Order: sequence, then C-alpha cells, then structure tokens
Amino acid sequence: MHLWRSSVYGPVRSRRLGLSLGLNLLPADRKFCNYDCPYCECGLTPPGGGRGRLPTVEELSTELQGRIAQLKAAGTPPQALTMAGNGEPTLHPQFPQMVDAVCALRHQLLPGAKVVVLSNATRVDKPEVFQALLRVDERQLKLDGATERSFRLLNAPLGKFSLGDLVRCLRRFAGDLVIQTLLTRGTVRGEPVDNTTADEVAAYVALLQEIKPRWVALYSLDRESPEPGLQKLPESELERVAAQVRRVGIPAETY
Ligand code: SF4
Repeated sequence: MHLWRSSVYGPVRSRRLGLSLGLNLLPADRKFCNYDCPYCECGLTPPGGGRGRLPTVEELSTELQGRIAQLKAAGTPPQALTMAGNGEPTLHPQFPQMVDAVCALRHQLLPGAKVVVLSNATRVDKPEVFQALLRVDERQLKLDGATERSFRLLNAPLGKFSLGDLVRCLRRFAGDLVIQTLLTRGTVRGEPVDNTTADEVAAYVALLQEIKPRWVALYSLDRESPEPGLQKLPESELERVAAQVRRVGIPAETY
C-alpha cells in the first residue's frame, strides 16, 4: 500500500504530460474514496467511511506555491499539476475552490502548464463538481468494467452507483474528457473477473462510442495490488485492446 504523505508530491515524469507535480486533496494518513477498487495502490478503502483530516485550500495553495518556487529555482518547472492523491479528489467538500486556487497559481507562476484531474466521475451529478471539472485543462475519468458485473468487481462502489449511472456521468462531458481504464484478469474475493475477454472488450468499445472521449489511456497493475488474485497484463495484451479502440476512430495509448 502506498499513501502520499503530503498535499503536494513528486514531480513524476509522465510520457504525455512531462514533469507533473501531484496534488493530494485527501488526507495524508489514510485513503478516502467512494470506490473500493481491489487493485488500488492506496490499499483497500477503510471500512466505516470517515475521511480523516483534509487539507484546506489555503494549506494546499501555500504548499504548492513553495514547491513551484523550489522547482523553478532548480531549473525544473513542472509542466503539469495533477490532482489525484490518496483517493477521489472530488470528494473534497471544497473541490471547486481547490480547482480555482490551483488554476490561479498556474496562471500566475506556471503559464503554459496543464491542470489535470484524475477522478472516478461518481460526483459529476453535483453541478459544482461538474463545472469545476470543466474548468481544468484535462479530465481523466475512470471506466474499468463495461458490464455491471465487471464494474462491481473492479470498482466496488460504496453506496448506490451503477454502471449506467457512471456512463450517464461520463456522457455529460460531450466528449471533452479522457477515459482511463485498468485492464486485468484474475479473481476478486474468489470471483473470476477479466475485462479483456471478447465480450467485455466489445461492450467497452460500444460504451466508448457513446462517450466519445478525446482519447483513452489503457494500463495494467503497476505496484502490488491489495487483491493478490489480480494479474498485471503484458504490453501485448494492452495493445490488443488499444487496437480495437482505435478501429472505431478513438485514439488509445498504453502505459
Ligand atoms: S477510484 Fe482510484 S482511489 Fe478510489 S479505490 Fe479506485 S483506484 Fe483507488
């Protein structure tokens, strides 16, 4: 299990975004998410909810400003500011204010850098969250399972949230989004799962044709997963799915 211990972390080098500074809007000492993906690098979602202590907008802004100044002084200014961290960033009650503060700092200190949010899209129904997601340069939203069964096994949403709800949320962006998908197979709590079968991939490509994302990022497990029954898939398998996505005119990259 890996938790980021501060509100600003990295930078990490990303093939597409360049040097990207990570922003953790979640607690530094625990995961806070409304999914319980069995592959989550932050570990399993703690039972009973509870969110721990969240950073304030002022705390995150101060820390970000300091880190940008350090990196600029070192001659390595970041090219992207990516909101992700120890869970789902849109769960922060001041997510819209966080977005505005980060965009303002980018404008002032790093013109040209991109502001990116990685999200599971479950809170897009909140108008203020939807509007805030539209204000960043890039939204990378998660779609792992294309059938209700694989969605439940791979994302395990807490509370009532179905694959249909997710697709409705993703369609609201009218194509101005990036879809990120984790490909894997194995077992989750003893149940077999594989989102790379012919049926799963056909259902996935059909959903992408409805959602019409700008492009799709396909990846597999990176670090050890909390669920030991899941496998990291080789690049050739990611490429096989990517080819089927490209066939319907949607760009796809593998990581
Ligand atoms: S949505 Fe992201 S943070 Fe939440 S459980 Fe899944 S992988 Fe982890």
